Amino acid sequence: MATTVSCPRCGKSVVWGPQSPWRPFCSERCRLVDLGEWLDENRRIPGTEDDLDDDSPISEHSPGAH
Ligand SMILES: [Zn+2]
Repeated sequence: MATTVSCPRCGKSVVWGPQSPWRPFCSERCRLVDLGEWLDENRRIPGTEDDLDDDSPISEHSPGAH
């Protein structure tokens, strides 16, 4: 008995088997589109570039001339 799933992208039923290499997607196209959107979403995370650029090295007070 063939198990079928719905393509997460377009809803088309996909046979869950070796004949469907892109399962759970119905095709490579759907798979790539879904993956692309996922990556795009990931990239859209607002960059919180909040680190202070205070790169002052902790300079110890050298025991200089007195
Ligand atoms: Zn599809």
